Amino acid sequence: MGDLTKLGIAAARDGLNAGDFSARELTAAHITAMVAAKPLNAFITETPDQAVEAATASDARRAKGEAGKLEGIPLAIKDLFCTKDVLTTAASHILDGFKPRYESTVTANLWKEGAVMLGKVNLDELAMGSSNETSYYGNVVNPWRRAGDNRDLVPGGSSGGSASAVASFSAMGATGTDTGGSIRQPASFTGIVGCKPTYGRCSRWGVVAFASSLDQPGPMARSVRDTAIMLEAMAGFDPKDSTSVDMPVPNFEAALTGDIRGLKVGIPKEYRTDGMSPEIEALWQQGIDWMKAAGAEIVEISLPHTKYALAAYYIIAPAEASSNLARYDGVRYGLRVEGKDLNDMYANTRAEGFGAEVKRRLLIGTYALSAGYYDAYYLKAQKVRTRIANDFKEAYEKVDVILTPTAPSAAFSFGDKSDDPLAMYLNDVFTVPASLAGLPGISVPAGLSEEGLPLGLQLLGRPFDEETVFRAAGVLEEAAGFTATPTDWWRG
Ligand code: GLN
Repeated sequence: MGDLTKLGIAAARDGLNAGDFSARELTAAHITAMVAAKPLNAFITETPDQAVEAATASDARRAKGEAGKLEGIPLAIKDLFCTKDVLTTAASHILDGFKPRYESTVTANLWKEGAVMLGKVNLDELAMGSSNETSYYGNVVNPWRRAGDNRDLVPGGSSGGSASAVASFSAMGATGTDTGGSIRQPASFTGIVGCKPTYGRCSRWGVVAFASSLDQPGPMARSVRDTAIMLEAMAGFDPKDSTSVDMPVPNFEAALTGDIRGLKVGIPKEYRTDGMSPEIEALWQQGIDWMKAAGAEIVEISLPHTKYALAAYYIIAPAEASSNLARYDGVRYGLRVEGKDLNDMYANTRAEGFGAEVKRRLLIGTYALSAGYYDAYYLKAQKVRTRIANDFKEAYEKVDVILTPTAPSAAFSFGDKSDDPLAMYLNDVFTVPASLAGLPGISVPAGLSEEGLPLGLQLLGRPFDEETVFRAAGVLEEAAGFTATPTDWWRG
Protein backbone atom coordinates (compact mmCIF):
# COMPACT_ATOMS: atom_id res chain seq x y z
CA MET A 1 0.00 0.00 0.00
CA GLY A 2 3.04 2.30 0.45
CA ASP A 3 3.08 5.38 2.63
CA LEU A 4 -0.41 6.80 2.32
CA THR A 5 0.67 10.18 3.71
CA LYS A 6 2.79 10.81 0.61
CA LEU A 7 -0.28 10.82 -1.65
CA GLY A 8 -1.94 14.06 -2.61
CA ILE A 9 -5.67 14.67 -2.20
CA ALA A 10 -6.45 13.84 -5.85
CA ALA A 11 -4.47 10.57 -5.72
CA ALA A 12 -6.01 9.61 -2.37
CA ARG A 13 -9.47 10.26 -3.79
CA ASP A 14 -8.68 7.91 -6.70
CA GLY A 15 -7.27 5.26 -4.35
CA LEU A 16 -10.32 5.44 -2.11
CA ASN A 17 -12.63 5.23 -5.12
CA ALA A 18 -10.75 2.18 -6.41
CA GLY A 19 -10.95 0.50 -3.00
CA ASP A 20 -7.14 0.33 -2.67
CA PHE A 21 -7.41 1.49 0.95
CA SER A 22 -10.08 2.78 3.30
CA ALA A 23 -10.62 6.19 4.85
CA ARG A 24 -9.84 4.55 8.19
CA GLU A 25 -6.44 3.42 6.91
CA LEU A 26 -5.73 6.80 5.37
CA THR A 27 -6.68 8.57 8.58
CA ALA A 28 -4.67 6.16 10.76
CA ALA A 29 -1.54 6.84 8.67
CA HIS A 30 -2.00 10.58 9.17
CA ILE A 31 -2.63 10.27 12.89
CA THR A 32 0.70 8.42 13.19
CA ALA A 33 2.43 11.16 11.16
CA MET A 34 0.77 13.90 13.22
CA VAL A 35 1.94 12.33 16.48
CA ALA A 36 5.47 11.86 15.12
CA ALA A 37 5.58 15.53 14.08
CA LYS A 38 5.09 16.84 17.64
CA PRO A 39 8.49 18.62 17.59
CA LEU A 40 7.07 20.94 14.90
CA ASN A 41 4.30 22.12 17.28
CA ALA A 42 1.94 22.51 14.34
CA PHE A 43 -1.14 21.27 16.24
CA ILE A 44 -2.69 22.99 19.24
CA THR A 45 -5.40 20.34 19.62
CA GLU A 46 -5.27 16.84 18.15
CA THR A 47 -8.60 15.06 17.68
CA PRO A 48 -7.57 11.50 16.72
CA ASP A 49 -10.60 9.75 18.23
CA GLN A 50 -13.00 12.05 16.44
CA ALA A 51 -10.97 11.53 13.24
CA VAL A 52 -11.25 7.74 13.41
CA GLU A 53 -14.98 8.04 14.04
CA ALA A 54 -15.38 10.40 11.06
CA ALA A 55 -13.32 8.11 8.83
CA THR A 56 -15.46 5.12 9.79
CA ALA A 57 -18.59 7.06 8.92
CA SER A 58 -16.94 8.11 5.66
CA ASP A 59 -16.22 4.50 4.67
CA ALA A 60 -19.87 3.68 5.36
CA ARG A 61 -21.06 6.55 3.16
CA ARG A 62 -18.77 5.49 0.36
CA ALA A 63 -20.06 1.93 0.59
CA LYS A 64 -23.58 3.30 0.11
CA GLY A 65 -22.48 5.31 -2.93
CA GLU A 66 -22.81 8.64 -1.15
CA ALA A 67 -19.22 9.90 -1.35
CA GLY A 68 -18.68 13.66 -1.22
CA LYS A 69 -15.96 15.67 -2.97
CA LEU A 70 -13.49 15.25 -0.11
CA GLU A 71 -14.76 11.93 1.12
CA GLY A 72 -12.33 10.45 3.66
CA ILE A 73 -9.60 13.10 3.19
CA PRO A 74 -7.82 13.99 6.47
CA LEU A 75 -7.34 17.73 6.97
CA ALA A 76 -5.92 20.10 9.56
CA ILE A 77 -8.02 23.12 10.53
CA LYS A 78 -6.48 26.47 11.43
CA ASP A 79 -7.43 27.19 15.02
CA LEU A 80 -9.19 30.35 13.94
CA PHE A 81 -12.20 28.38 12.61
CA CYS A 82 -14.85 27.64 15.20
CA THR A 83 -15.41 23.91 15.53
CA LYS A 84 -18.39 22.75 17.55
CA ASP A 85 -17.42 21.45 21.00
CA VAL A 86 -13.71 21.43 20.07
CA LEU A 87 -11.38 23.92 21.75
CA THR A 88 -10.89 26.97 19.50
CA THR A 89 -8.08 29.24 20.67
CA ALA A 90 -6.98 31.59 17.83
CA ALA A 91 -3.60 30.88 19.54
CA SER A 92 -4.53 33.51 22.12
CA HIS A 93 -4.74 33.27 25.90
CA ILE A 94 -7.85 35.45 25.69
CA LEU A 95 -9.92 32.52 24.34
CA ASP A 96 -8.85 30.17 27.14
CA GLY A 97 -11.08 27.12 27.23
CA PHE A 98 -13.44 28.39 24.48
CA LYS A 99 -15.45 25.54 22.97
CA PRO A 100 -17.83 26.99 20.36
CA ARG A 101 -21.44 25.85 20.34
CA TYR A 102 -21.43 26.14 16.56
CA GLU A 103 -19.39 25.17 13.50
CA SER A 104 -17.93 27.71 11.05
CA THR A 105 -19.54 27.64 7.61
CA VAL A 106 -16.28 26.71 5.85
CA THR A 107 -15.58 23.73 8.11
CA ALA A 108 -19.24 22.67 7.96
CA ASN A 109 -18.93 22.72 4.15
CA LEU A 110 -15.83 20.50 4.36
CA TRP A 111 -17.53 17.94 6.62
CA LYS A 112 -20.56 17.93 4.33
CA GLU A 113 -18.22 16.82 1.53
CA GLY A 114 -16.83 14.02 3.71
CA ALA A 115 -13.51 15.48 4.94
CA VAL A 116 -12.03 14.24 8.22
CA MET A 117 -10.61 16.60 10.86
CA LEU A 118 -7.25 15.57 12.37
CA GLY A 119 -7.06 18.54 14.72
CA LYS A 120 -6.69 22.28 15.09
CA VAL A 121 -3.46 23.91 13.99
CA ASN A 122 -1.34 26.67 15.44
CA LEU A 123 -1.05 30.24 14.13
CA ASP A 124 0.18 33.67 15.11
CA GLU A 125 -1.99 35.03 17.90
CA LEU A 126 -5.33 36.09 16.38
CA ALA A 127 -3.67 35.73 12.94
CA MET A 128 -1.39 38.73 13.49
CA GLY A 129 2.10 37.97 12.31
CA SER A 130 4.30 36.56 9.57
CA SER A 131 6.39 34.00 11.46
CA ASN A 132 4.26 32.13 13.98
CA GLU A 133 6.31 33.55 16.83
CA THR A 134 3.35 35.26 18.52
CA SER A 135 1.27 32.19 19.39
CA TYR A 136 0.36 31.72 23.06
CA TYR A 137 0.92 28.01 22.37
CA GLY A 138 4.54 28.42 21.28
CA ASN A 139 6.40 28.70 17.99
CA VAL A 140 5.56 26.48 15.05
CA VAL A 141 8.69 25.03 13.43
CA ASN A 142 9.20 24.80 9.66
CA PRO A 143 9.85 21.20 8.52
CA TRP A 144 12.52 22.64 6.20
CA ARG A 145 16.05 23.43 7.35
CA ARG A 146 18.91 25.10 5.51
CA ALA A 147 21.26 22.61 3.88
CA GLY A 148 23.88 21.54 6.42
CA ASP A 149 22.36 23.65 9.21
CA ASN A 150 20.30 22.23 12.07
CA ARG A 151 18.79 25.47 13.28
CA ASP A 152 15.01 25.72 13.31
CA LEU A 153 13.33 28.12 10.91
CA VAL A 154 9.97 29.88 11.03
CA PRO A 155 7.17 28.44 8.86
CA GLY A 156 5.83 31.91 8.02
CA GLY A 157 2.52 33.18 9.28
CA SER A 158 -0.05 33.48 10.29
CA SER A 159 -1.17 30.08 8.92
CA GLY A 160 2.16 28.53 9.93
CA GLY A 161 0.65 25.51 11.69
CA SER A 162 -1.39 24.74 8.58
CA ALA A 163 1.72 25.03 6.40
CA SER A 164 3.90 22.96 8.70
CA ALA A 165 1.26 20.20 9.02
CA VAL A 166 0.88 19.92 5.24
CA ALA A 167 4.62 20.20 4.43
CA SER A 168 5.46 17.53 7.03
CA PHE A 169 2.88 15.12 5.53
CA SER A 170 0.86 15.16 8.76
CA ALA A 171 -2.25 16.34 6.87
CA MET A 172 -3.22 16.18 3.19
CA GLY A 173 -4.46 19.74 3.26
CA ALA A 174 -5.33 22.48 5.69
CA THR A 175 -7.55 25.49 5.93
CA GLY A 176 -5.85 28.85 6.25
CA THR A 177 -6.98 32.44 6.40
CA ASP A 178 -5.35 35.32 4.60
CA THR A 179 -5.74 38.92 5.72
CA GLY A 180 -2.51 40.32 4.28
CA GLY A 181 -0.70 37.21 3.09
CA SER A 182 -1.20 34.59 5.78
CA ILE A 183 -1.94 31.77 3.35
CA ARG A 184 0.47 32.69 0.56
CA GLN A 185 3.60 33.58 2.55
CA PRO A 186 3.66 30.44 4.76
CA ALA A 187 2.98 28.34 1.65
CA SER A 188 6.05 29.93 0.06
CA PHE A 189 8.17 29.29 3.19
CA THR A 190 7.25 25.60 3.35
CA GLY A 191 7.17 24.58 -0.32
CA ILE A 192 3.43 24.04 -0.61
CA VAL A 193 0.55 25.67 -2.51
CA GLY A 194 -1.69 28.22 -0.79
CA CYS A 195 -4.68 29.94 -2.37
CA LYS A 196 -6.35 33.10 -1.12
CA PRO A 197 -9.69 33.31 -2.93
CA THR A 198 -11.50 36.52 -3.85
CA TYR A 199 -12.88 38.35 -0.82
CA GLY A 200 -16.44 37.05 -0.43
CA ARG A 201 -15.82 33.65 -2.04
CA CYS A 202 -15.59 31.74 1.26
CA SER A 203 -17.77 32.60 4.22
CA ARG A 204 -16.14 34.28 7.21
CA TRP A 205 -18.96 33.13 9.48
CA GLY A 206 -17.51 31.35 12.50
CA VAL A 207 -13.96 32.45 11.73
CA VAL A 208 -12.43 34.46 14.58
CA ALA A 209 -12.30 38.00 13.17
CA PHE A 210 -9.06 39.96 12.68
CA ALA A 211 -9.76 42.60 10.00
CA SER A 212 -13.19 41.92 8.57
CA SER A 213 -12.80 43.75 5.26
CA LEU A 214 -9.66 41.71 4.47
CA ASP A 215 -10.03 38.28 6.14
CA GLN A 216 -10.58 35.43 3.70
CA PRO A 217 -10.39 31.65 4.28
CA GLY A 218 -8.64 29.48 1.70
CA PRO A 219 -7.01 26.11 1.10
CA MET A 220 -3.39 24.98 1.58
CA ALA A 221 -2.17 21.68 0.10
CA ARG A 222 0.76 20.16 -1.78
CA SER A 223 -0.46 20.74 -5.32
CA VAL A 224 -2.51 23.23 -7.30
CA ARG A 225 -5.05 20.51 -8.09
CA ASP A 226 -5.46 19.68 -4.41
CA THR A 227 -6.11 23.31 -3.49
CA ALA A 228 -8.63 23.56 -6.35
CA ILE A 229 -10.48 20.49 -5.04
CA MET A 230 -10.48 21.89 -1.51
CA LEU A 231 -11.64 25.37 -2.52
CA GLU A 232 -14.63 24.00 -4.37
CA ALA A 233 -15.74 22.28 -1.16
CA MET A 234 -15.02 25.30 1.09
CA ALA A 235 -16.56 28.05 -1.03
CA GLY A 236 -20.13 29.18 -1.54
CA PHE A 237 -22.67 31.82 -0.67
CA ASP A 238 -23.58 32.07 2.99
CA PRO A 239 -26.49 34.27 4.08
CA LYS A 240 -24.90 34.38 7.55
CA ASP A 241 -21.97 36.44 6.21
CA SER A 242 -23.16 39.77 4.77
CA THR A 243 -20.01 40.07 2.63
CA SER A 244 -20.33 36.58 1.18
CA VAL A 245 -21.07 36.87 -2.52
CA ASP A 246 -23.94 34.98 -4.14
CA MET A 247 -22.20 33.46 -7.13
CA PRO A 248 -22.05 29.88 -8.35
CA VAL A 249 -18.95 27.92 -7.35
CA PRO A 250 -17.28 26.60 -10.49
CA ASN A 251 -15.60 23.24 -10.82
CA PHE A 252 -12.12 24.61 -10.14
CA GLU A 253 -10.39 21.34 -10.93
CA ALA A 254 -11.82 21.41 -14.45
CA ALA A 255 -10.05 24.75 -14.97
CA LEU A 256 -6.68 22.94 -14.91
CA THR A 257 -6.45 22.47 -18.65
CA GLY A 258 -2.69 22.94 -18.82
CA ASP A 259 -3.19 25.39 -21.68
CA ILE A 260 -2.27 29.06 -21.26
CA ARG A 261 -1.59 29.88 -24.89
CA GLY A 262 -2.51 33.50 -25.50
CA LEU A 263 -2.99 34.24 -21.80
CA LYS A 264 -1.76 37.72 -20.93
CA VAL A 265 0.51 37.70 -17.90
CA GLY A 266 1.27 41.07 -16.30
CA ILE A 267 4.60 41.84 -14.67
CA PRO A 268 4.25 44.87 -12.39
CA LYS A 269 7.37 46.97 -12.53
CA GLU A 270 6.79 48.43 -9.05
CA TYR A 271 7.29 44.98 -7.51
CA ARG A 272 10.97 45.19 -8.44
CA THR A 273 11.64 46.70 -5.03
CA ASP A 274 14.90 48.36 -4.08
CA GLY A 275 17.25 45.81 -2.66
CA MET A 276 15.30 42.84 -4.00
CA SER A 277 17.46 39.78 -3.40
CA PRO A 278 19.10 38.49 -6.58
CA GLU A 279 17.77 34.98 -6.05
CA ILE A 280 14.19 36.23 -5.79
CA GLU A 281 14.71 38.31 -8.92
CA ALA A 282 16.16 35.30 -10.74
CA LEU A 283 13.24 33.10 -9.67
CA TRP A 284 10.77 35.70 -10.89
CA GLN A 285 12.57 35.88 -14.26
CA GLN A 286 12.49 32.09 -14.41
CA GLY A 287 8.73 32.19 -13.84
CA ILE A 288 8.34 34.74 -16.63
CA ASP A 289 10.33 32.50 -18.97
CA TRP A 290 8.23 29.46 -18.07
CA MET A 291 4.98 31.31 -18.79
CA LYS A 292 6.37 32.58 -22.09
CA ALA A 293 7.53 29.09 -23.10
CA ALA A 294 4.01 27.80 -22.39
CA GLY A 295 2.59 30.29 -24.90
CA ALA A 296 1.57 33.16 -22.64
CA GLU A 297 2.10 36.75 -23.63
CA ILE A 298 4.17 38.73 -21.13
CA VAL A 299 3.06 42.33 -20.60
CA GLU A 300 4.81 44.89 -18.44
CA ILE A 301 2.27 46.71 -16.30
CA SER A 302 2.32 49.47 -13.73
CA LEU A 303 0.64 49.43 -10.32
CA PRO A 304 1.77 52.89 -9.30
CA HIS A 305 0.38 52.97 -5.74
CA THR A 306 2.06 49.74 -4.67
CA LYS A 307 4.56 51.58 -2.51
CA TYR A 308 1.79 52.82 -0.22
CA ALA A 309 0.14 49.42 0.26
CA LEU A 310 2.00 48.27 3.36
CA ALA A 311 1.47 51.57 5.14
CA ALA A 312 -2.24 51.56 4.31
CA TYR A 313 -2.60 47.92 5.36
CA TYR A 314 -0.89 48.51 8.70
CA ILE A 315 -3.42 51.27 9.45
CA ILE A 316 -6.58 49.54 8.17
CA ALA A 317 -5.92 46.05 9.57
CA PRO A 318 -5.13 47.27 13.12
CA ALA A 319 -8.08 49.72 12.99
CA GLU A 320 -10.49 46.91 12.20
CA ALA A 321 -8.78 44.63 14.71
CA SER A 322 -9.15 47.19 17.48
CA SER A 323 -12.88 47.27 16.85
CA ASN A 324 -13.27 43.48 16.42
CA LEU A 325 -11.26 42.67 19.53
CA ALA A 326 -13.43 44.87 21.74
CA ARG A 327 -15.64 41.79 22.19
CA TYR A 328 -13.05 40.13 24.45
CA ASP A 329 -14.21 41.55 27.74
CA GLY A 330 -13.96 38.64 30.17
CA VAL A 331 -17.73 38.20 30.05
CA ARG A 332 -18.63 36.48 26.83
CA TYR A 333 -15.69 34.25 25.96
CA GLY A 334 -12.64 32.59 27.38
CA LEU A 335 -10.39 34.24 29.91
CA ARG A 336 -11.68 36.34 32.82
CA VAL A 337 -9.33 37.91 35.33
CA GLU A 338 -11.27 39.41 38.26
CA GLY A 339 -10.69 42.97 39.49
CA LYS A 340 -12.05 45.35 42.08
CA ASP A 341 -14.84 46.50 39.78
CA LEU A 342 -16.10 45.91 36.25
CA ASN A 343 -13.61 48.21 34.53
CA ASP A 344 -10.78 46.71 36.50
CA MET A 345 -11.90 43.23 35.41
CA TYR A 346 -11.92 44.33 31.74
CA ALA A 347 -8.45 45.79 32.08
CA ASN A 348 -7.01 42.79 33.91
CA THR A 349 -8.53 40.33 31.45
CA ARG A 350 -7.26 42.16 28.38
CA ALA A 351 -3.84 42.88 29.91
CA GLU A 352 -3.30 39.22 30.64
CA GLY A 353 -5.16 37.76 27.67
CA PHE A 354 -3.44 39.52 24.77
CA GLY A 355 0.21 39.19 23.77
CA ALA A 356 2.56 42.03 22.84
CA GLU A 357 1.90 42.05 19.08
CA VAL A 358 -1.88 42.07 19.53
CA LYS A 359 -1.57 44.93 22.03
CA ARG A 360 0.61 46.86 19.58
CA ARG A 361 -2.09 46.50 16.90
CA LEU A 362 -4.83 47.53 19.32
CA LEU A 363 -2.91 50.67 20.24
CA ILE A 364 -2.16 51.58 16.61
CA GLY A 365 -5.73 50.82 15.53
CA THR A 366 -7.40 52.74 18.33
CA TYR A 367 -5.11 55.68 17.72
CA ALA A 368 -5.80 55.69 13.97
CA LEU A 369 -9.55 55.70 14.61
CA SER A 370 -9.57 58.31 17.37
CA ALA A 371 -11.15 61.74 16.92
CA GLY A 372 -8.61 64.09 15.41
CA TYR A 373 -6.53 61.32 13.85
CA TYR A 374 -9.25 59.50 11.92
CA ASP A 375 -8.96 61.79 8.88
CA ALA A 376 -5.19 61.86 8.92
CA TYR A 377 -4.71 58.10 9.15
CA TYR A 378 -7.73 55.87 8.70
CA LEU A 379 -9.54 57.90 6.05
CA LYS A 380 -6.28 58.53 4.17
CA ALA A 381 -5.48 54.81 4.24
CA GLN A 382 -8.94 54.00 2.86
CA LYS A 383 -8.36 56.44 -0.01
CA VAL A 384 -5.03 54.77 -0.77
CA ARG A 385 -6.83 51.44 -0.71
CA THR A 386 -9.23 52.63 -3.40
CA ARG A 387 -6.31 53.80 -5.55
CA ILE A 388 -4.62 50.44 -5.20
CA ALA A 389 -7.82 48.67 -6.22
CA ASN A 390 -8.11 51.01 -9.22
CA ASP A 391 -4.51 50.26 -10.24
CA PHE A 392 -5.42 46.58 -10.43
CA LYS A 393 -8.67 47.30 -12.27
CA GLU A 394 -6.78 49.18 -14.96
CA ALA A 395 -4.13 46.50 -15.19
CA TYR A 396 -6.78 43.81 -15.69
CA GLU A 397 -8.00 45.64 -18.76
CA LYS A 398 -4.68 44.64 -20.31
CA VAL A 399 -3.80 41.34 -18.66
CA ASP A 400 -5.51 38.19 -17.34
CA VAL A 401 -3.20 37.37 -14.43
CA ILE A 402 -0.26 39.00 -12.67
CA LEU A 403 2.95 37.17 -11.76
CA THR A 404 5.15 38.25 -8.83
CA PRO A 405 7.31 36.68 -6.13
CA THR A 406 5.30 35.65 -3.05
CA ALA A 407 7.72 36.84 -0.39
CA PRO A 408 10.95 38.85 -0.36
CA SER A 409 12.98 35.97 1.12
CA ALA A 410 13.00 32.31 2.07
CA ALA A 411 12.11 31.22 5.62
CA PHE A 412 14.19 32.97 8.27
CA SER A 413 15.41 32.01 11.75
CA PHE A 414 13.50 32.49 14.99
CA GLY A 415 14.28 35.88 16.49
CA ASP A 416 15.56 37.34 13.20
CA LYS A 417 12.71 39.83 12.91
CA SER A 418 10.64 39.44 16.07
CA ASP A 419 12.29 42.43 17.78
CA ASP A 420 11.65 44.69 14.83
CA PRO A 421 7.97 44.94 13.85
CA LEU A 422 8.75 46.96 10.72
CA ALA A 423 11.15 44.33 9.40
CA MET A 424 8.45 41.73 10.07
CA TYR A 425 5.78 43.80 8.30
CA LEU A 426 8.02 44.14 5.23
CA ASN A 427 7.56 40.42 4.63
CA ASP A 428 4.06 41.18 3.39
CA VAL A 429 5.18 43.61 0.69
CA PHE A 430 4.10 41.40 -2.25
CA THR A 431 0.95 39.92 -0.71
CA VAL A 432 -0.75 42.93 0.87
CA PRO A 433 -1.76 44.89 -2.28
CA ALA A 434 -4.02 42.09 -3.56
CA SER A 435 -5.53 41.76 -0.08
CA LEU A 436 -6.43 45.44 -0.05
CA ALA A 437 -8.04 45.01 -3.49
CA GLY A 438 -9.84 41.78 -2.47
CA LEU A 439 -8.32 39.81 -5.36
CA PRO A 440 -7.65 36.08 -5.62
CA GLY A 441 -4.06 34.88 -5.44
CA ILE A 442 -2.03 31.73 -5.16
CA SER A 443 1.51 30.84 -4.17
CA VAL A 444 3.16 27.99 -6.05
CA PRO A 445 6.50 26.45 -5.00
CA ALA A 446 8.87 27.33 -7.83
CA GLY A 447 12.42 26.65 -6.70
CA LEU A 448 14.97 26.39 -3.93
CA SER A 449 17.12 29.15 -2.50
CA GLU A 450 20.92 28.88 -2.43
CA GLU A 451 20.49 27.55 1.08
CA GLY A 452 18.12 24.83 -0.10
CA LEU A 453 14.87 26.42 1.08
CA PRO A 454 11.62 26.62 -0.90
CA LEU A 455 10.64 29.83 -2.69
CA GLY A 456 7.20 30.58 -4.08
CA LEU A 457 5.85 32.59 -6.98
CA GLN A 458 2.53 34.37 -6.70
CA LEU A 459 -0.21 34.63 -9.33
CA LEU A 460 -3.03 37.15 -8.89
CA GLY A 461 -6.29 37.25 -10.80
CA ARG A 462 -9.42 39.24 -11.48
CA PRO A 463 -12.17 39.20 -8.86
CA PHE A 464 -13.91 35.79 -8.84
CA ASP A 465 -11.67 34.50 -11.60
CA GLU A 466 -9.95 31.84 -9.52
CA GLU A 467 -10.31 29.53 -12.51
CA THR A 468 -7.76 31.47 -14.57
CA VAL A 469 -5.50 31.72 -11.52
CA PHE A 470 -5.63 27.93 -11.07
CA ARG A 471 -5.07 27.33 -14.78
CA ALA A 472 -1.97 29.53 -14.85
CA ALA A 473 -0.77 28.11 -11.53
CA GLY A 474 -1.09 24.57 -12.88
CA VAL A 475 1.18 25.46 -15.79
CA LEU A 476 3.68 27.19 -13.50
CA GLU A 477 3.71 24.18 -11.18
CA GLU A 478 4.28 21.81 -14.08
CA ALA A 479 7.15 23.91 -15.45
CA ALA A 480 8.79 24.31 -12.04
CA GLY A 481 8.54 20.59 -11.33
CA PHE A 482 9.12 21.23 -7.65
CA THR A 483 9.43 17.78 -6.06
CA ALA A 484 11.81 18.52 -3.19
CA THR A 485 10.61 17.59 0.29
CA PRO A 486 12.15 18.26 3.70
CA THR A 487 14.09 15.44 5.37
CA ASP A 488 11.95 14.09 8.20
CA TRP A 489 14.46 15.02 10.94
CA TRP A 490 11.62 15.58 13.43
CA ARG A 491 11.04 11.85 13.60
CA GLY A 492 14.31 11.72 15.61
N1 GLN B 1 1.43 39.28 8.26
C1 GLN B 1 0.25 40.06 8.13
C2 GLN B 1 -0.12 40.66 9.47
O1 GLN B 1 0.58 40.42 10.39
C3 GLN B 1 -0.86 39.27 7.56
C4 GLN B 1 -1.53 38.39 8.55
C5 GLN B 1 -2.69 37.66 7.95
O2 GLN B 1 -2.84 37.61 6.73
N2 GLN B 1 -3.52 37.13 8.82
O3 GLN B 1 -1.07 41.35 9.60
